[in-house]
Amino acid sequence: MLNCAYDYSLKWRFEFNPLKSVILGYRTELDLVFNLGDKSVNISTETKHLGILRTVDLSPSTDIQHSCRKGRNAYFAIAGTGSCLLNPLTVCGLYNKIVIPAVLYGCELWNGIKPKDLRCLETFQHFIVKHIQGFPKRTRSDMCESMTNLERLPILVEKRKLMFLYKLCEMKAQSLTKQIFIYRLFQYFGDTSRKQHGFIPDVTNILSKYSLLNFLNSYMFTGCFPTKLQWKNIVNSAINQHEKHRKEERMRSDNDFTRFLRLSENNGYDFIWQYAKYTGRLRTAKHVAKLWSTPPTSGNCNLCGHFVQDTLYHQITMCTELQTQRHLLYKRLSEMTSDNFLYTLLSKSDEYVSCFLLGNHEALLDFLTPEHCLDVLNEGFSYLTYCRL
Ligand SMILES: [Zn+2]
Repeated sequence: MLNCAYDYSLKWRFEFNPLKSVILGYRTELDLVFNLGDKSVNISTETKHLGILRTVDLSPSTDIQHSCRKGRNAYFAIAGTGSCLLNPLTVCGLYNKIVIPAVLYGCELWNGIKPKDLRCLETFQHFIVKHIQGFPKRTRSDMCESMTNLERLPILVEKRKLMFLYKLCEMKAQSLTKQIFIYRLFQYFGDTSRKQHGFIPDVTNILSKYSLLNFLNSYMFTGCFPTKLQWKNIVNSAINQHEKHRKEERMRSDNDFTRFLRLSENNGYDFIWQYAKYTGRLRTAKHVAKLWSTPPTSGNCNLCGHFVQDTLYHQITMCTELQTQRHLLYKRLSEMTSDNFLYTLLSKSDEYVSCFLLGNHEALLDFLTPEHCLDVLNEGFSYLTYCRL
């Protein structure tokens, strides 16, 4: 084959660079010498082809690690331009447009992904979302991802693989790629005694995970596949629904998320950053976002020293050390709205009042006009920031 290529290059008068070519020995180690013309070609265990790293063990692990490193560099190139002054939702927009394509380039070919590879992808994005929002490392990753509306990377990989399946199905019948795909597809389903590796078993697993296998079956019998837009909608709705359900399940079964879920139930997870976008009060929003993501903790209050069930709720509504600031806040709230409103608010539980000041207006929404809503929100947030809770 090398001789063929060499003869062809002589015929058409171009040159191969033997230093830029390598031989990959799959399965068996090679101890032969390969020549391209009169120069030898090195034998290697990995090489890049079209920007995708191919290794002899056919595992995508090294490529995934490379991609995450590439993504980290791309992210810091953006972050170095003063992203701390931007709304995290804006930075996430840049991350989606610049970093994600760099990380997921060629991910359609990451077949046989192992749990450690998935962890590598997850860890990469968790680091980024925390950095974007200025959260400490120990903040729960599900919260950080939810607050920026980012999708988990393993989910994006699955979506891309399913879109790649569409591309293969829609290729012209004469193309070699399509012929190989059809051959491998029928071989996978027809000859179950042979274990197949690669894209087809991988995509079949994804299809069955989201109950979409019937589309591939019907394609094999009729040759019909949904259009690009239809398929995109089918894939997005199936995966998003599954993912939303699993995320909620994860969060509801964990006590750390109790406050976060309560605060976001009427507003959406990204409420704080939307608030910052609308009002321009980014520093206040960053402060409140940290409070949103603080898990409920019991212990001694660091201001008054009393043992309390929930430190944050106690400090917002009960702590004697913050009495003066609190009275000022209540006074401003009653001036802004009405005595009746303040009376209704204060008749509720500590937890309720705290959540109200943290942004969940819940049932009291009926008492507030839309303009009051924002003013009350501003006052509450200013109080929380001023008291450095
Ligand atoms: Zn206290």
